[in-house]
Amino acid sequence: MIIVIRPNTSREKVEEVIAEVEKLGYDARPIFGTNQTVVAAIGDERTHHTLESLNVLPQVEQVMRVQKRYKLVSRESHPDNSVVSVDGIEIGGAKFSMMAGPCSVENEEQLLMTAHAVKKAGATILRGGAYKPRTSPYEFQGLGKEGLRLLQVAKDETGLKIITEVLSERDVEHVAQTADILQIGARNSQNFQLLIEAAKSGKPILLKRGLSERIEEWLLAAEYILSYGNPNVLLCERGIRTFETYTRNTLDLVAVAIAKRESHLPVIVDPSQGCGRADLVRILCRGAVAMGADGLLIEVHPNPAEALSDGQQQVDFNSFDQLMQELPPILKAVGREL
Ligand code: PEP
Ligand code: MN
Repeated sequence: MIIVIRPNTSREKVEEVIAEVEKLGYDARPIFGTNQTVVAAIGDERTHHTLESLNVLPQVEQVMRVQKRYKLVSRESHPDNSVVSVDGIEIGGAKFSMMAGPCSVENEEQLLMTAHAVKKAGATILRGGAYKPRTSPYEFQGLGKEGLRLLQVAKDETGLKIITEVLSERDVEHVAQTADILQIGARNSQNFQLLIEAAKSGKPILLKRGLSERIEEWLLAAEYILSYGNPNVLLCERGIRTFETYTRNTLDLVAVAIAKRESHLPVIVDPSQGCGRADLVRILCRGAVAMGADGLLIEVHPNPAEALSDGQQQVDFNSFDQLMQELPPILKAVGREL
């Protein structure tokens, strides 16, 4: 950290700051300028006590970090892209990953029809919520354990891998029995106890970005998972809340480029929650590929008009097929393939 001392501060007052810096476990190196002094505090900022509290001293003008707050997720600690293996399917390598399926698991017919359709079109991972985080308690909450049972049936029948959301710490164990990837939703993205429990399961985790979460906070949430010994994290950009009303959320594709630059973890884009409009999903998928995403998570429903959740943003089988046909040339242009 760099501590900037106010102009015209006496040497004695600078010494006071140096003493405080040393008390907090850092080496202090003052640099005396003609008008102003700065104190460089040498030590690992991520694990030492924070020096930001020194802002309360009247002679301190500013305390500035020089290190990033995350370590294990950063590209500095792991310069190559991480490849996460989901029971044999690699995410983050040359192959682009397609995860698709309904927002919610509604019944056996709906899930199986969708599973077969997305598999035929080329997806390798089936999504479907058994536990749903709904804004209103009166809306469909998901089938719970019955939904997991149906996901298992779909997995056995198609060989697709399963991604499904875990809403609470107490569900981690049984959700992990069916899920190949645990999805942590936007509303839980900073539920640190849940992140820790999910990390301990050892399963790959897809971590959505929170509704109004900064990129730094998202990466720090991922850092929790890695710091609890689970390196199998997929970051997922799913739109953030802004003032815009033409879309449900604003899909932040810049965050994809930044996350890829800052971190070695694979980045997945969810254009369905990202804009909340079925008519924009395909075009956003193109954008996500061009921005360097490693995969897509897409809501697909046999009859979106009758969906029990998020009908307005789910694409039908036809539209999903078209998407799968138009992606390869765009993938090729950025050196990827399905
Ligand atoms: C979902 O994937 O259906 C979902 C609820 O996602 P999010 O947590 O991004 O809102
Ligand atoms: Mn949804």
